[in-house]
Amino acid sequence: MVTILGGGISGLAAAHYMLKFKIQPSGVISLIEAAPEVGGWIKSTLRPDSTLFEHGPRTIRPKGNQGANTLALIEELELSSKVKPIRSGHPATRNRLVYVDKQLYKLPSSLSSVFLKSKPFSKPLVFAAITDLMSPRKSCKDEPIYDFVARRFGKDIAEYAISPLICGICAGDAKEVSVKFLMRSLFEAEQRHGSVIKGLISSIFKEKEKPNFHSALVSKAADEKWNVWSLEGGLQLLPKTLENSLRNKGISINLSSPCQSISFAHNKVIIKANQSEIVSNHVISALPAWKLAPLVSSQHPELSHNLSSIPFVTVGVVNLKFPKNVLNESAFGFLVPPSQKLPILGIVYDSCCFPQNEDCTVLTVMMGGRFLKEHFGKVLHPEVAVQTAIKHTKEILGITQEPCDYNVSILENCIPQYIVGHDERMDNIYKYIQKHKLPLSLVGASYEGVGVNDAIMSSLRAALRLKKLG
Ligand SMILES: Cc1cc2nc3c(=O)[nH]c(=O)nc-3n(C[C@H](O)[C@H](O)[C@H](O)COP(=O)(O)OP(=O)(O)OC[C@H]3O[C@@H](n4cnc5c(N)ncnc54)[C@H](O)[C@@H]3O)c2cc1C
Repeated sequence: MVTILGGGISGLAAAHYMLKFKIQPSGVISLIEAAPEVGGWIKSTLRPDSTLFEHGPRTIRPKGNQGANTLALIEELELSSKVKPIRSGHPATRNRLVYVDKQLYKLPSSLSSVFLKSKPFSKPLVFAAITDLMSPRKSCKDEPIYDFVARRFGKDIAEYAISPLICGICAGDAKEVSVKFLMRSLFEAEQRHGSVIKGLISSIFKEKEKPNFHSALVSKAADEKWNVWSLEGGLQLLPKTLENSLRNKGISINLSSPCQSISFAHNKVIIKANQSEIVSNHVISALPAWKLAPLVSSQHPELSHNLSSIPFVTVGVVNLKFPKNVLNESAFGFLVPPSQKLPILGIVYDSCCFPQNEDCTVLTVMMGGRFLKEHFGKVLHPEVAVQTAIKHTKEILGITQEPCDYNVSILENCIPQYIVGHDERMDNIYKYIQKHKLPLSLVGASYEGVGVNDAIMSSLRAALRLKKLG
């Protein structure tokens, strides 16, 4: 018997792979989810007039092994016809903006623009390469991504490119997040070769890692140069389809069943949920680390301590709809560097990425994250989030109309922060599980990557490890 805790995308994907690789028959796999529906942070609202509001993730990247693996899953679930790609060259892929000193600037997106001085940068970006070649190596195990980029490429790049990017990816502070979170290969290039550029040049001569996942959809994405993709009707279609597929194959999915404790005894796991006990041979936790920590704390305080030392941030998400096209420029959206001291992290131009069926504008304003306390105090109230979103959207984009519809979600502790030392923390966690021979697998966004692709890949890896164990 295998029990999977959590029905977010990683828990559902874990169940899918357990069946796919015939690790356990469906009758002995059960999934326990605290909420009344599956999907975790993947949640889409489709209004009766077909306006789509995404509360959590909205686009997925097709690139690399992780991206190809997710596309292969989409194909297995017969969802290929529902995929909405944004192809390279679309304004949403070319126009990524930053808001600095009360103005929107386009980030350089072509080779020629690297040689031109473009605000907010004080020099052409090619100077960043020269800075890297001239700067001495600093030997270290890990450091904040801001420090690494400022050291190797200059403060401008750290301030106006990396800081807002970290806000956009994990609502985090580039001065805390580990360089290995986004730039592991660049960091290793410096450690080995003394400079990132020298390291990259030497890697040109090495054999490239080829994607391991082949499917018609993966080939289509490559041929058509997809930049990102989503699903018709919203990304929630993915967890919903997985749920139906698992139920049809006989997996028991128990909703509104929060797990209350986990204890390990004689190679067995005893899971308490909904006043009953489930005895299993193995548990796959697809819970966020901070939710798993208290469940194991009485028997394994050290493991619990390490799990709870992965910080999480709360994000306010406000979707706004305006009755007509109110944007001057077609773009993916813009991000705000934290140095601008604005209470929003950025705005995604949803209806530029995926036009909605009327001539309306749908935008998503994100706020809070690592900077929530600084701007909103201890708690972000939904009404404050809506007021903040409307005020700043109108001011920055010069919109005079009021929105005709909106949706607000305060997502408590939704994004893990891979701060400096995350790798070491993960090593300690994995070593502890191994040393104590705990029949426990950890999957999900808390550990090896914060995106949807990473979460799904973590489940595939866990299933393959279990298959190997037999
Ligand atoms: C605002 C936002 C925007 C994002 N944008 C993107 C994007 O554009 N692209 C992208 O790739 N990624 C994006 N992400 C990240 C992506 O959403 C996550 O990587 C992914 O959803 C994580 O899935 P998960 O299954 O690991 O965790 P979760 O979604 O957190 O699922 C965990 C599940 O466990 C359940 N649970 C909790 N406690 C218990 C308990 N005691 N017992 C049983 N069940 C429990 C929860 O109810 C939940 O369903 C975004 C995230 C957020 C918050």
